[in-house]
Amino acid sequence: MSHPIYKHVGSPITRLIEECAELQQALCKAERFGWFNYHPDRPERTNMDDVRAEMDDVVEAIERMQEDMRQIRHEHFKASNVQSKWRAACGTSKRLKGAV
Ligand SMILES: [Mg+2]
Repeated sequence: MSHPIYKHVGSPITRLIEECAELQQALCKAERFGWFNYHPDRPERTNMDDVRAEMDDVVEAIERMQEDMRQIRHEHFKASNVQSKWRAACGTSKRLKGAV
């Protein structure tokens, strides 16, 4: 469960990895100690509550990762489109130079 203050700290990849690890830990606790058991410091939250919260965190981190990947893809193809236009322009000018 990430604190809202730290919500945007770190890259989307790092946050997704971290949230997956937190979900793994919550699932292990639930498997070892039971779904309705709880941490002694937090008797108001069961292991099932923690798993649900971590699942929500993972979903949110995946959504951020997907948005980041869309942006990366957009930037990649935008850059390669510029490069191909530049190559096309250079190829055209070389052909023109050869013709002269
Ligand atoms: Mg979390």
